[in-house]
Order: sequence, then structure tokens, then C-alpha cells
Amino acid sequence: MIPLVQKLRHPLLWSVWCWLILGVIRWELTPISRLEASVEDSRNSNAEDQINEKEFSGKRAFAYLEKQCEFGARFPGSAAHQKTQAYLLAELEKFAEEAVLQPFEYRQQNQSIRMNNILARFGGNGGGTMLLAAHWDTRPFADLDPNPANRNTPILGANDGASGVAVLLEVARILKSNPPATPVIIVLFDGEDYGKTVSDMFLGSRYFAQNMGRWSADFGILLDMVGDRDLALPMERYSWNADRQLTEAIWRRAEEIGLPEFQRRLGAAVMDDHLQLIEAGVPTVNIIDFTYPYWHTIEDTPDKCSPHSLEVVGRLVLDIVYRGL
Ligand SMILES: [Zn+2]
Repeated sequence: MIPLVQKLRHPLLWSVWCWLILGVIRWELTPISRLEASVEDSRNSNAEDQINEKEFSGKRAFAYLEKQCEFGARFPGSAAHQKTQAYLLAELEKFAEEAVLQPFEYRQQNQSIRMNNILARFGGNGGGTMLLAAHWDTRPFADLDPNPANRNTPILGANDGASGVAVLLEVARILKSNPPATPVIIVLFDGEDYGKTVSDMFLGSRYFAQNMGRWSADFGILLDMVGDRDLALPMERYSWNADRQLTEAIWRRAEEIGLPEFQRRLGAAVMDDHLQLIEAGVPTVNIIDFTYPYWHTIEDTPDKCSPHSLEVVGRLVLDIVYRGL
């Protein structure tokens, strides 16, 4: 041991000692109002965190989008597809009352490929059942890429695939923390983007629509390509033709809660998973931004998407879940 006085002889130790004393004086002189203000700040930020826990977060949804893309291109038969399936089921199991795989087989010439829809159930028993859907697979080839050399490359599907799923995972998290009175079913379709022609696309929704059983619903909302940074969501034409009242009610609600990305005009007619549900008797509206220059190209990557876009769509979906239409 070295005595304190001896230690303080060293110039460096002296300066440390002086700093300590000055620090004590400065701490004692800190005005009470400033201390109170800092406590108040931390109280406020705690309160904000608590409120945000119950609100849709675009940031958290975007993390779900990135996570899916980190697995790589998620087309049926790929290792990334397998890993993503396990991840999505595990996430939904955390939040849902029940989450299951709905397996089916797709036969093509002499080849058979296994695919899985992922189904989850939330909420109480009252009122009509609402179905929320998105496709979780991605296209095995970038057939619309401007560069012909890329047209057999699988796409990452940040917007075309991951965006809708990302919104629904964040919705699932909220439904767990604040269970709705009415039943909500989330369905993630496989095999939406599998083939080159319409007959070998929408495979999961086709299978689901023919085998709904106890997973049937009174109406549905499909989310596809909702992550575009430059989000513009007119009313999709097939949805409007099938159920004009439902479609317009959704867009009216968006207007009411101040979401200008939803535009109350008719947009393109887009063949998508909702058509299978409509045909099976579940009126379903497709929320889709079909003016996305990177559609079915290798450029469909997370940097073309934004947390804000996911949040706009998530807020509308949750508003309908809790307040009905
Ligand atoms: Zn697609």
C-alpha cells in the first residue's frame, strides 16, 4: 500500500484529485430544477416506450422485412425457403393462440414439390372473422429484369413478398399485447409467385380457398407489395368489382385516419391471391402498389422500401381490426 499523501505527490495523481473535488462541487451545484427536468425526461421516454409497445411500429416491421431478405431468395425448394418457413412459424407461435402449417403438394410434370401455408389465429369469439393475408414465397426468376442475363436469377422480394409478411408479423405482435374482441386469422400463402403462367401461380391461396375448414372468414384483406418507398395505393379493380362496398369502406377509413397514400380512385386490376378467396365466397380486398419499377427484377431489395410505408398499411389494418368497418 502507498499512503495517499505520497500518491498525491505525483503530478498526474494531483490532477485526478482536483478533478474529483471539482466534480463533487459541480454535482452539488446542479440546480434542483435541472435534476427534476432530467427525471421528467426519463419518465416521458418510459411513457412513450409503453405507448409505442401497443402501437404499430414501421421500424419493427421493417426489421421483419430485412430479416426475411437475410435468408436470401425464398422460392419453394430452396434452403432459404425452408429456413424462412421455420422462422415465420416460430414468430407466429410467439404471438398467436394457435399457429400451424398447412402443407400441400404441387405436382408439375413428373416432379412434385412440397409447400406450406402458415396459419395463425387471434382474438375473441365475437363478431365476424377477419382474414389478413400475404404471400411469403418469392419468385424463382427475375423474368422482368432489364438485363436478360439476370432473368433466371431468383429475386430477393423485399417488396414482392417480404413487405406484406412484415406488416402482418408486426400486426400479430400487437394482437398479442392487445387481443381484439373479434377473431382474426393471419394466413401466409406459399407458392404465389412460383410459375411462369397463371396456372402455376397462387398455389397456396388456391389450396387454402379449397380447404379452409375452420379457418374460413367473413371477409379478408390481402397485402402485397406494400413496402415501396414511394407508396401509392389506389383501389385495386378486381377487389372493387367483387365488393365495391367493402373496398370503398377500407379506403374511406384510410382517409378518415389521415393516410394519404391510400388514394380513392380505381387502379389496375391485379391477378393475385385474393381472387381465389373471392371465388370461394370470402370477399377479399387487395391492398397493392402495382407501380413498382423493380417488380420481378433482381433490384427488388430492402433499400427500395421504407418503414413509413409499412407503418401506413399496418395502422389502417389495425384500425379496422379494433374498430371494425
Ligand atoms: Zn410477384
